[in-house]
Amino acid sequence: MKELFHNVFRDGRRLYTVSLDPGQSVYGEKIRGKYREWDPFRSKLAAAILKGMKTKPLKASSKVLYLGAAQGTTPSHVSDIADRGLVVCVEISQKAFEKLLPLCERRENMIPVLADANKPKEYAEYTTGIDVLYQDVAQPNQAAIFIRNFSFHGYGLLTIKARSIDVAARPKDIFKREISTIEGAGIKVLEVIPLEPFEKDHAMVVCKR
Ligand code: SAM
Repeated sequence: MKELFHNVFRDGRRLYTVSLDPGQSVYGEKIRGKYREWDPFRSKLAAAILKGMKTKPLKASSKVLYLGAAQGTTPSHVSDIADRGLVVCVEISQKAFEKLLPLCERRENMIPVLADANKPKEYAEYTTGIDVLYQDVAQPNQAAIFIRNFSFHGYGLLTIKARSIDVAARPKDIFKREISTIEGAGIKVLEVIPLEPFEKDHAMVVCKR
């Protein structure tokens, strides 16, 4: 196995993280000793890494603001990586949040927050010292939400789902438009990674402020 970055290993076409909760499967993923398989068809971050993401924004001590945590599939892997840091998991859906709670109880570095990512003031008490923003909310105003939450110096990772913004326009044009909105806010775009074949019409945008 080859370590790509802290606690992330690649073995051929498979990706793994070293589990913070050994032996425990979060979403049905396979366990291999101390490793949990990281499914690129279930996690856009795994897809971006397998598609060759060059930037290494996540470290052992990263403090991550994660918007759109859902039931915790990708957040659990981010929690494996930032094993000496923090993952603040913001989710708007009560139903998803209820499934996220037991996961956060098992993992000391995950904090669940039931809130709307459009309103960062509502969870400001949890965002002191944050140095990575990860956003996966599938909303038409995703660039605006990203800009509103990216109020610190560090890295930002934004998943763009073209079909959530405009079903009629070409995904390529939507990515361009979203990127120019982000750049217009003074955020530097480092990489744009299309996520096919794992996710259709999606891209991961890696940024720095
Ligand atoms: N990031 C998750 C993962 O990889 O495991 C999957 C996220 S799912 C594609 C998108 C999530 O964003 C949904 O759970 C949805 O409820 C949440 N969401 C949508 N709008 C939101 C908002 N304004 N604030 C917070 N969460 C939101």
